[in-house]
Amino acid sequence: MNNQNTSQGQRVIVANTEGGVGMAAAAQVLMAGGRGLDAIEAGIRPVELDPTVRSVGVGGWPNLLGEVELDALIMDGRSLKSGAVGALQGFLHPISVARQVMEQLPHVFLVGEGAARFAAEIGAEAGENRTDESRQQWAEWLARYVPADLIAAWPNVPLAPWARLTADPERAGGTTTFLVRDANADIAAGTSTCGWAMKYPGRLGDSPVIGAGGYADNRYGAAACTGHGELSIRAGTARSVVLYMKMGMTVQEACHEAADDLRRLVREFPAALTIHAIDASGAAYVVAIGKEPGTGWYWYWAEGMPSAEKRDAVEMQW
Ligand code: ASP
Repeated sequence: MNNQNTSQGQRVIVANTEGGVGMAAAAQVLMAGGRGLDAIEAGIRPVELDPTVRSVGVGGWPNLLGEVELDALIMDGRSLKSGAVGALQGFLHPISVARQVMEQLPHVFLVGEGAARFAAEIGAEAGENRTDESRQQWAEWLARYVPADLIAAWPNVPLAPWARLTADPERAGGTTTFLVRDANADIAAGTSTCGWAMKYPGRLGDSPVIGAGGYADNRYGAAACTGHGELSIRAGTARSVVLYMKMGMTVQEACHEAADDLRRLVREFPAALTIHAIDASGAAYVVAIGKEPGTGWYWYWAEGMPSAEKRDAVEMQW
């Protein structure tokens, strides 16, 4: 695997580790002259349908109630328009619902029942995101951690004590993030996730929060985060990276500055956060903070490459 890329002025896709299954579709859109926003959707939709990606869409980890609540955002760096959905249940493609929030509504963010209502109104694909495997793992998790008398009363018990267990990095996270620069030099960002495994119902991470989990501005670049989203919400990480580039930093410097902001946050559990970023020319930089050494990598494709390849992230400890 190569290290960071500094290719200039071309069609580029940067996706996180979970994005592999969507890279070819996203690249195809760009090579056909399509828009970055369409490439984002084309790239994320296959990830949402892949049951082996346990942190996104079908097969995603359930919350404490055994429900799969999905979050997504999309942002257009040309218009600075964005759309997002949070805690959406019963639909297969939160990224496409987020896109339509952006295209059709005077709002930028819908959650819960309102998001599901809107998804139904626009004819979004309804479907079951739980799989036999995820149902079984939820039941096994309960049996492992929760006393039998509480399981018998579940979910009519206080859930808060059990939400803390979701901070276990072994099972906490995952998301897919795509950053794209198209043939018009338009930049876009997209994310999709089920959030933390066994999260408290209604919990939103950074992934649907514009400025935390993703941000794009044609003039400077784009950023998207994976990992413990509570941290990037608190630090406004994706927006910070783009703002630091506006202030004159390179994409690398901007990521390091944002990592420095994250380090100032008081953390109550072991946490990791990966920042993916591109600048306006498409130069990419990815930094993984607090991950197991050797586990930080991402997908990279630029025009001229026959297919996407894995690249090493720069790794940092807290
Ligand atoms: N950032 C996501 C969240 O906090 C999870 C992850 O990417 O690991 O919901």
